Amino acid sequence: MSSPIPKSALPELIRHFVEKCPACGSTQPVGLVEIIKDEKHILLARLVCRACQSALLTRIHVLPHGLWGSVLMTDLEAGELRRFCKEPPVNLNHVLDAHTLDGERLRHLLSPPEKR
Ligand SMILES: [Zn+2]
Repeated sequence: MSSPIPKSALPELIRHFVEKCPACGSTQPVGLVEIIKDEKHILLARLVCRACQSALLTRIHVLPHGLWGSVLMTDLEAGELRRFCKEPPVNLNHVLDAHTLDGERLRHLLSPPEKR
């Protein structure tokens, strides 16, 4: 189920929500908007700052009493973000498993899928 906000209104909502670029401080930073995930209460979008071209990731919670969210810088492309959204969350066991991998296996897992 998507958020109660019409899809056509999402980019404008995000432009109003993100008031300042965390990288350069621009006060009207949102250029390109790519919706990554639109669920009932959570909206995830990748943005590009029109002033410094930094890629930003915003997560907005759509709540009955208003919107709440955060913005951070990312080096991930939209396709990577969509792929990671489908993966289960990283838990403590995953972290412990990563510490037991040898260097070659870890490099293989961290390499882009097309090189595996
Ligand atoms: Zn910027």
